[in-house]
Amino acid sequence: MARILLNKDNLFYNLEAISQKATSKEKVAVVLKDNAYGHGIVEIAKLSCEFGIKKAVVRSVEDAQKIKDYFSYILILAPNVFHNYSHTFHIALNTLENIEKIPQNSNVHIKIDTGMHRNGISIDDIEVAILGLLKQKANITGVFTHHKGADELSTNFFFQKELFSKAKAKVKEICEKLFLPIPAFHSCNSSALFREKNFEELNEDFARAGIATYGYLEDDLQFNFPKLKPVMSLWASKMATRTLKKNQSVGYGGKFTASSDMIVSTYNVGYGDGFLRLNENHNYTTPKGFQVLGRVSMDNLSINSEEEEVCLFDDVRELAKIHNTITYEITCSLKENIKREII
Ligand SMILES: *Cc1c(COP(=O)(O)O)cnc(C)c1O
Repeated sequence: MARILLNKDNLFYNLEAISQKATSKEKVAVVLKDNAYGHGIVEIAKLSCEFGIKKAVVRSVEDAQKIKDYFSYILILAPNVFHNYSHTFHIALNTLENIEKIPQNSNVHIKIDTGMHRNGISIDDIEVAILGLLKQKANITGVFTHHKGADELSTNFFFQKELFSKAKAKVKEICEKLFLPIPAFHSCNSSALFREKNFEELNEDFARAGIATYGYLEDDLQFNFPKLKPVMSLWASKMATRTLKKNQSVGYGGKFTASSDMIVSTYNVGYGDGFLRLNENHNYTTPKGFQVLGRVSMDNLSINSEEEEVCLFDDVRELAKIHNTITYEITCSLKENIKREII
């Protein structure tokens, strides 16, 4: 099987850029959902901890368990089971209906819907949520929201920001009235963080950095986003080499035909490993200038190379374009059983 190399220097470079923008390492929560966007949850957790990041965001309780030794503060976005959690776990409340399932003493972050209309409660329900959680004897440790398009040029970003600042004011007012501690506030994902002119002025407790950690941001020049460094590269090993004679073709459908005699090798990665299927409609060139020939199979692909190991990508932006998707999907698709190695 193929292997994934994780470039520690690049990860640290990105975490440094994020920490500076957020004003300190304490104000960064690294987002590790979905196997750390395909990079390997435990590997990225260990490295982020080594760098000095104290907070993480995951999808499930199972994920939080896997990384609990590396962080002092873990936000669980979509808790699937409700039982008693570790005191370092904070669970998101995505709907009022879940309040009664929350066990005593749980730390809860209330998710506010500021316009994405996916999860979260409306501003009008904040007081109901707080009172309900108090009745449940839960600790209200955070209030947050999520942007639907901080990486796009539109007014959504400003609109949601405005609504969240209203929500924050309301939460503060209610907490003061009830003699409750003011919870942590957070609203920024990667692009929102880098779009903020001055994160300090936003007066929030941390930012949730996902894609920027891994080296990508939508690089629309108008936002002046910094250049980050991709962390992941995908490598495949040679299984077989042959000479493809002029007019012979390779792979399913025989969609690549040699125009003259050429050397072709098969490498051990395919769409079954999560390397999305390229076919005759795409030209994809590896970082070293080799071509992926014809159609990618489930477990292997053909390349005009003889090297023992080839790097299929060290930056997924080109593949994201080819597949008409976002960088997130290219990295997330890589299966968990591929070996991850830190270099
Ligand atoms: C995925 C996610 C993030 C991280 O977003 P990026 O764009 O990758 O930085 C932050 N917050 C929530 C709630 C998320 O689901």
